[in-house]
Amino acid sequence: MPEAAELFRQWSSYLKPEDLTQIESAYRFSKAAHEGQFRKSGEPYISHPLAVADILAQWHMDPQALTAALLHDVTEDTEVTKTEISRNFGKPVAELVDGVSKLDKIEFETQEKAQAENFRKMLLAMARDVRVILIKLADRLHNMRTLDTLEPEKRRRIARETVEIYAPIANRLGLNSIYQELEDLAFKHLYPERHRVIAKAVKAARGNRREVVSKVAAALQKKLKENKVDSQVHGREKHLYSIYRKMREKHLSFAQILDVFAFRIIVKDVQSCYLALGALHSLYKPIPGKFKDYIAIPKANGYQSLHTTLFGPFGSPCEIQIRTLDMHKIAEAGVASHWLYRSSDASLSELQQKTHQWLQSLIEMQSESGDSVEFLEHLKVDLFPDEVYVFTPKGKILALPRGATAVDFAYAVHTDIGNRCVAVKINQELMPLRCELKNGDRVEIITAAHAKPNPLWLNFVVTAKARSHIRHFVKTMHFQESVQLGERLLNQALTAFKSSLAEVKEQQWEKLMKESSAKSREHLLSDLGLGKRLSAVIARQLLSLGSLSASESAIPGTVVIRGSEGMAVQFAKCCKPIPGDPIIGMISKDQGMVIHTHDCPVIGKSRPDPDRLLDVQWDQETRKSFEVSIKLVVANQRGVLAKVAAEISSAGSNIQNVAVDPDDGGNYTTMHFTLQVGNRLHLAQIMRGLRSIPEVIRISRVKSG
Ligand code: MN
Repeated sequence: MPEAAELFRQWSSYLKPEDLTQIESAYRFSKAAHEGQFRKSGEPYISHPLAVADILAQWHMDPQALTAALLHDVTEDTEVTKTEISRNFGKPVAELVDGVSKLDKIEFETQEKAQAENFRKMLLAMARDVRVILIKLADRLHNMRTLDTLEPEKRRRIARETVEIYAPIANRLGLNSIYQELEDLAFKHLYPERHRVIAKAVKAARGNRREVVSKVAAALQKKLKENKVDSQVHGREKHLYSIYRKMREKHLSFAQILDVFAFRIIVKDVQSCYLALGALHSLYKPIPGKFKDYIAIPKANGYQSLHTTLFGPFGSPCEIQIRTLDMHKIAEAGVASHWLYRSSDASLSELQQKTHQWLQSLIEMQSESGDSVEFLEHLKVDLFPDEVYVFTPKGKILALPRGATAVDFAYAVHTDIGNRCVAVKINQELMPLRCELKNGDRVEIITAAHAKPNPLWLNFVVTAKARSHIRHFVKTMHFQESVQLGERLLNQALTAFKSSLAEVKEQQWEKLMKESSAKSREHLLSDLGLGKRLSAVIARQLLSLGSLSASESAIPGTVVIRGSEGMAVQFAKCCKPIPGDPIIGMISKDQGMVIHTHDCPVIGKSRPDPDRLLDVQWDQETRKSFEVSIKLVVANQRGVLAKVAAEISSAGSNIQNVAVDPDDGGNYTTMHFTLQVGNRLHLAQIMRGLRSIPEVIRISRVKSG
């Protein structure tokens, strides 16, 4: 590794002096921050960021990226903060450093292969600036180059991560030479013996083949010259890991793979590519089905070339790639080729445009502006705008649509988790269930055995799975609850005729089902519960169908309200009845039974059909909390609200809602509370407690809207 001063001199070949000054000061800053830290090899730590910056300089990356590379480990390993970097080197550099350290924090824990693709996507999605990925890849490349000093266990883990995560990212971004180097280095550390054998065999084969390769190359060159195609012909070797992969995947022997000669032909323009192809096809016969035109239809990562395979002169196939120099640069350096070849001639803007187009197609986003000058701006893009990647507590990664909430996550994990979720911890912090998830969040759903889905969730869930399960649940719950209520209503109506459900015979039911248009007995009962049919009518019908006759003079019985009837029984919003209040039930057409207080002003005014009114009573023991509204007139003094709230909670009640009338400058203020209470007795206790507060002047329960 050359001295820093020597590297700066090399970098100055493409950087402006003032940029270099900033980079040198970042170097000194980083060196001071890492003072006293050493790498496993014994070198001072600063050698690592310097080497990473040098890799980026080979790609002619911009000064911000180089500065960030020099600083990329300081926030992790030293006391330096993001603010400090921002103050010294500007916000863009601080953002880049922050982006890289965020990626460092995610550890690829799971052994599952299928997770690797999601993990790669998450990394790409988190790095909103492509330069963050490039710095990260350079960091990984240097770590891989210096892996020998680590213990074998750690070496294998890093190598495996490289082959599964980072090499494919490099490949996807078209960074071909880095991709191959990462794979070969990883291969060496994962399978040292296989690597050694293949490397040795390749070396031996190279000697044997040299003569053949140069003979074929000469023949190709001669033919191209005859056809007036300016070209350079290169023999080409596969990288070791790709040889190994081919042997494994296609079950080929080493000899079978090496028994292929490969050439690359570089020409000056696109037209010459096709001319060269024609010339070579007239020299040796092409193997049918092997020709591919990646110029007309580039690969997803922007790669362009013509591929063909010929029957070579010594009975071995010859694989040929034909491309222009520009195509070659993109093929080798991918996204980095943008920086690498920025300052050449006019053909460059064409290259930029192509790179730009490619990036755009890569991210599957519509281009807002085709101007290549704005290219750098366009690099700040969301690579996967429609998805968000989050961790389960076990380290699995889930891909969800953008905007997904904790409830969507819960249903994505398992329907039962969704149906029973009550709270969520995101990155160890308790958050509301409606909370929108961000890339890299670690999400833990808290469930309770008796929890049920809440219809209100439908307002914020975005996944079809969550939506349909909540809907389904609400529907079936509602149905079951109204069936139960219908059964009780019918039983009560029968009691009025001195009969009961138990006395109704099977034939009576059968006859009733024939006469009524109900789909099933359950549907009929549900209709009763929902108020679509009246229980007195059905009771009379049932009895007239049996031997028993209805005695009209009967006094109707009473329905007992337990408070646990669910959606089939509603408590009126106008008078908010609580256990202990005298109550009355009203069957409404679509809401089922609604419970009002006897003195409810709303019911008094509406004069409902007496057939729809039911005598109801509270059960001795209700276990639910009920809403009740109270109104307080208090002296206008500081801290009253706090005193009132403390008194309410010490009486074991929850405040659901508070509203305070606007201050009119007077001595008194009115406060409106909605509380949760168990019953009238509970409410009386609370009111007694509130009266003991000196500032409370008047207190009353509110029974209308
Ligand atoms: Mn590093």
